Amino acid sequence: MKLIQIEGFQVFYFYANEPFIFPKPLNQNLRPFEPFMEKELKNHFNLRLVITKSFLGSNIYYVLYLYFDPDKFPSSLDKKVQDDTFTNEDFQDSVFSKFPKTVCIYCKWKRPTLCIEHDCYYRNFELELKKMRKFEFKLCPNCGKSLRQSVLMIFKSQIIN
Ligand SMILES: [Zn+2]
Repeated sequence: MKLIQIEGFQVFYFYANEPFIFPKPLNQNLRPFEPFMEKELKNHFNLRLVITKSFLGSNIYYVLYLYFDPDKFPSSLDKKVQDDTFTNEDFQDSVFSKFPKTVCIYCKWKRPTLCIEHDCYYRNFELELKKMRKFEFKLCPNCGKSLRQSVLMIFKSQIIN
């Protein structure tokens, strides 16, 4: 894990396959970490766990998932982060995302998904627009209608509680 700046955001970046150990102060008010994602992060080379401090200045830390366009994933990203040789360009095809369960309001289909975390970009509308234009959002795979949020990826497995 390493504290770095990505396109103006300060985040704790977790390397691929790094165990999720959250030292103080991250562990004190951390939310929301989904055990489901612990497994899924290992299955997807284009995702990284990042933790950011609340945008509102409180001492709450949020778990986010940095989603990269799988076709544009930068080579040796973890190594570049480790060596401090990365630039914002390495992150231009990534976007901060969150993990909700998405339900189709038309046909009630539901699955775990990753969606753009719009709250991250509230101070940088231009960057948000740029990200919105870069990614294609998923439609409901069951009925083909809009899922009414910026769904970046749909997980194949369901959450087993
Ligand atoms: Zn549907």
